[in-house]
Amino acid sequence: MRAIAVTPASKTVGIIDHAEPEITSPTQVKLRMIEAGVCGTDREICAFEYGTPPRGSQHLIIGHESLGEVVEVGTQVTRFTTGDLVVPMVRRPCPHEHCMACRAGRQDFCFTGDFTERGIKEQHGFMAQLIVDDEQFMNLVPGELRDFAVLVEPLTIAEKGLAQVWEIQQRLPWSCPIVPSNAQAHCHNAVVLGAGPVGLLGAMALVHAGFDTWVYAREPLPNPKSALLESIGAKYLSAEDTTLEDLAGSIGNVDLVYEATGASRLAFDMMKHLGTNGIFIFTGVPGRKAPVEIDTDLIMRNLVLKNQVVFGTVNAGREAFEASIRDLGEFSKSWPEAMRSMITGRFPIEAHRELLLGKSTGIKNVIKLN
Ligand SMILES: [Zn+2]
Ligand SMILES: [Zn+2]
Repeated sequence: MRAIAVTPASKTVGIIDHAEPEITSPTQVKLRMIEAGVCGTDREICAFEYGTPPRGSQHLIIGHESLGEVVEVGTQVTRFTTGDLVVPMVRRPCPHEHCMACRAGRQDFCFTGDFTERGIKEQHGFMAQLIVDDEQFMNLVPGELRDFAVLVEPLTIAEKGLAQVWEIQQRLPWSCPIVPSNAQAHCHNAVVLGAGPVGLLGAMALVHAGFDTWVYAREPLPNPKSALLESIGAKYLSAEDTTLEDLAGSIGNVDLVYEATGASRLAFDMMKHLGTNGIFIFTGVPGRKAPVEIDTDLIMRNLVLKNQVVFGTVNAGREAFEASIRDLGEFSKSWPEAMRSMITGRFPIEAHRELLLGKSTGIKNVIKLN
């Protein structure tokens, strides 16, 4: 079968001919992969910034945002049958008995760092024509979501973040008064930093949850992302003509910040504007650059005097995948046009070089695998 792989030792990226994976245990499922999304992580692996092949292999098949169709099931598989659409999870547990997280099926909170990740760390990924995995790492997707399901994995970042927000904020009276026509968070404001796929999907999740949502990003107005955001009821402000002070000034109390840029300077500047009882979610992974100066007194004063919480979140567990599938279904009913414009293009496997190594363009580019 054909697959897209990196070979770190020779610094090459390309299509390889790989042995077809076989079902070797009764709880495994074989998928014919329909498509895979290209994200920043894939591009970084292709720039050899990270990405580790499986033990004994020179190459790593990449890809972790995917959609496949079941073509074969092991004799003890109970949740899937041939023809089902599936989005597989990415992270696999570490082997250590003392890792409470992995032993509880929450490898997204692995303590040891010895987890593996398909398409990223020590396990082949999903930019291949066929894959095999255990059914416990797969999520069933309804047929009507076929066109959007490749967005399930990137949306899990926001879903896991928001699930934690609801849990953490239970420590105070944060629930909005119940208004029948309004979603849960209708009395709260949220700021999203960045309008890449993670930021846009985060904004959709926040609007859907009822937050009055503002997205702050670099590109000047108008642009396709600002149009998309306006169409779902979010507001787009450009760093070109709006300072963070202006942004905070026009919002009122900033109840939540969802950071989706990986730009630490911008994030810490925004942290100064987090409101009373506010919560700040970091999702980006910045490259290490020179240290910058930040006003630690101001940030610490605010954290204490305004009862603030700052947390980081990575990867996602089963519940986040299930929430993502549920929410994508609702997004596609509420905002079909916006959902369609999230996927900029679907390309044949031969176009992988331009998508992985060329200039990053559009919103979410997808590679068709079969
Ligand atoms: Zn990704
Ligand atoms: Zn672990």
